[in-house]
Amino acid sequence: MNLKNLLREIEDFPEEGILFKDITPILKDEDGFNEVIERFLDEFAELEFDYIAAIEARGFLLGPVLSREFACGFIPIRKSGKLPADKVSVTYELEYGESELEMHTDSLEAGDKVLLIDDLLATGGTSLAAIELIEKLEAEVIAAGYLIELTDLPGRSNLQDYNIFSIMKE
Ligand code: AMP
Repeated sequence: MNLKNLLREIEDFPEEGILFKDITPILKDEDGFNEVIERFLDEFAELEFDYIAAIEARGFLLGPVLSREFACGFIPIRKSGKLPADKVSVTYELEYGESELEMHTDSLEAGDKVLLIDDLLATGGTSLAAIELIEKLEAEVIAAGYLIELTDLPGRSNLQDYNIFSIMKE
């Protein structure tokens, strides 16, 4: 199964200069989607963690499937204003402007071990904000897993203190 054949690239989306990596053809393909899940299962089989946390929106396409496979709970990390109960927030820089991620305050307890999942690692800014949230609740990020890693960008070096895994390097 060559996942690269299923990955679609869209130029200048959502804005000029961005080469958007569209994973929807992978998800649509039964064997492709299965391969993605199996690769994560193989990689993290020996890892001990309490929860999977994933980042809105495309992390939500992978995280809950993996939670089910690993028989653990799922925790959503959302864009600001979406979560209804008490929450912690972290503001982070985007290429243009800034954004904010939030987590429910009671979603983790001190010492919980978390596997973080997102679709793609680019600069690592989004993941660092998610990690900051998890650490605010005194929980620990045991590893982070991505379907795609953009190797021209400094995501991996910005996350050098963490255990990073990606299925596809682009
Ligand atoms: P970053 O914070 O720079 O690591 O960007 C990662 C986040 O932005 C992920 O949640 C991705 O979904 C999204 N993202 C960044 N660059 C791309 C891209 N070229 N194609 C698709 N999604 C991207």
